[in-house]
Amino acid sequence: MLLFDGLNFLQVLEGRFTPITTLMETIAEDARHHKIVTLIKEPIAEREYSMWSMKLLRKDRQTLTLIEDTFEVLLEQKRDGLKQNNSKSRSALIAKAFMEGAWTGSESVNESAISILSGHYLPKKLENSVNLQQKFAFQPIIDVRSRQVMWVEALIRGPKGESPMSIFDELDDKALHKLDAQSKLDALKVFSQFDTSCGLSLNLLPGTLLEFPDIVEDLAQLADNLGVKRSGIVIELTEQEAIENPDHINRLANEIKAKGFLLAIDDFGSGYAGLSILVELQPHILKIDRGIIQGAAQSGPREAIIDAIIYCAKRLGISIIAEGVEKEEDLSWLFTAGIERFQGYLLAKPALMALPPIHGPKNL
Ligand code: C2E
Ligand code: MN
Ligand code: MN
Repeated sequence: MLLFDGLNFLQVLEGRFTPITTLMETIAEDARHHKIVTLIKEPIAEREYSMWSMKLLRKDRQTLTLIEDTFEVLLEQKRDGLKQNNSKSRSALIAKAFMEGAWTGSESVNESAISILSGHYLPKKLENSVNLQQKFAFQPIIDVRSRQVMWVEALIRGPKGESPMSIFDELDDKALHKLDAQSKLDALKVFSQFDTSCGLSLNLLPGTLLEFPDIVEDLAQLADNLGVKRSGIVIELTEQEAIENPDHINRLANEIKAKGFLLAIDDFGSGYAGLSILVELQPHILKIDRGIIQGAAQSGPREAIIDAIIYCAKRLGISIIAEGVEKEEDLSWLFTAGIERFQGYLLAKPALMALPPIHGPKNL
């Protein structure tokens, strides 16, 4: 079945798994097609083909009903046309969503290239200017609409640029939390030496907040002393740990807000806390995990989930950051869907003790 609304096609491919997968790949590789999204892949019982026809239909309510019914018949093998119950099948619901424009998206925003970001943000090396046990890499979070760097996220590194994992793995809980707290103060000191008007985003383990509750006040004092605006500082908590001790975390989240910092939930959607964290913590910012973000432009389920997160966040006044964006097509889809802030290798990789240059995507 092939539906066309003048701009977009919805096609159902039916057959054995391997040839259908190959056919799908051929279609996807054909340069005449753009923005191919797999809505669902669903096994159905084998059947013979009997219905063949081609029709030009108006996009009205009657047609919608006809298409829904046809989908029911075609995909759900209700060839006798009898519905077993009143609920619509999944494929009919997808066809309906298509007819109502849910999957049509819009052409990618042709706002003249954000490539003007390139070189806008000059690297500044700080390698030797601070004497620290550990170092930091900084990665920009960019507002694509206004073409501004909103924040740089400080990512901890070993003396030779080692990963956070390899640093944290060496430590027991006590030492880990101590380093975590201390390193935030260091990150702020390094950041204050950059010549930039953007803000700073810091990762804190909820366990650190529990063990060193003074860290919030210490950060506030240090920011004031260094002349860094508190409202420009984001504190990121990962959703995984945030749920382990909800009452304490709620209190600390409130303290973070009361001190004038912004609160972000990191790696949202990576599978631990779910939507309840929006109710509990009411963060200012949600950072959507790269597991959901990557491949968004080609995956129906990802798109549906992201749309739902955007819808929720908008209603709650929460701003969204898409993490781990590596492909232009994903950025383009996400931007069209309503996300304006991005972090990822596509735009800028983390730079050791420096602010990296930014590469705007070409086709946006
Ligand atoms: P995170 O806070 O989610 O930080 C983003 C991670 O994703 C960083 O890895 C960054 O290098 C990586 N990343 C950014 N863009 C892309 C992309 O386009 N593709 C891919 N594949 N990866 C991308 P990193 O620096 O290895 O940090 C890993 C995690 O370690 C961080 O995840 C954060 O949870 C934790 N971490 C880093 N620094 C600190 C710190 O100072 N304190 C605490 N508590 N945790 C930290
Ligand atoms: Mn983070
Ligand atoms: Mn993250």
